[in-house]
Amino acid sequence: MSIKNNLLEIKSSLPENVTLVAVSKTKPVSDLVEAYKAGQRIFGENKIQEMADKFEQMPKDIEWHMIGHVQTNKVKFMAPFVSLVHGVDSLKLLEEINKQALKNNRIIDCLLQIHIAEEETKFGLDEAELNDLLQSDTFTNLKNIKIKGLMGMATFTENQDQIKKEFLHLKDIFDKFSILNPNFSILSMGMSGDYQLAIDCGSTMVRIGSSIFGTR
Ligand SMILES: *Cc1c(COP(=O)(O)O)cnc(C)c1O
Repeated sequence: MSIKNNLLEIKSSLPENVTLVAVSKTKPVSDLVEAYKAGQRIFGENKIQEMADKFEQMPKDIEWHMIGHVQTNKVKFMAPFVSLVHGVDSLKLLEEINKQALKNNRIIDCLLQIHIAEEETKFGLDEAELNDLLQSDTFTNLKNIKIKGLMGMATFTENQDQIKKEFLHLKDIFDKFSILNPNFSILSMGMSGDYQLAIDCGSTMVRIGSSIFGTR
């Protein structure tokens, strides 16, 4: 299967309200060009330097999404162009994104990452931490970032019931906080192995890599 065919097949299977982020991390620019030619305009990367390099080389009508864990000292390299930062999980990081957005005279859209998996290693806030962050004075004063919703990753397991439980937990938090936060419109959950389940559980944005570009 070609990148183009993979992409078109996945796209045709997505409901209209679900946005596809093509996760191109580790893949060469030639692969991104192939996806671009097939109509894809949203790409996800998990390393800031790699994303910045690809941004330089690719057409300028692309939305670049940072889906990986962000190091505070690297925010400045993506601030001029990034469209959406998925993995924000601290106020300190939000403050830095706000600072760099201000320098670039921009408002940068962000998603807050929620910890839903069993693994200790996955980043993210729990519900209480999310609540504290959104209620804090520091947060209220950040004028150059906008929280557009939430992002989460399920446990890496074959157990569909468990994945479903975790996705529904995130959807539940999303619904609860949407009431108080009218900017909330994006629920980013689902990857190659679990995106159909994620959509059934209310995802509005799926991040798909290997099913489009092949294994890494
Ligand atoms: C790599 C990655 C993906 C895509 O994973 P695939 O299984 O290749 O679709 C999605 N989300 C995040 C946060 C990732 O790091």
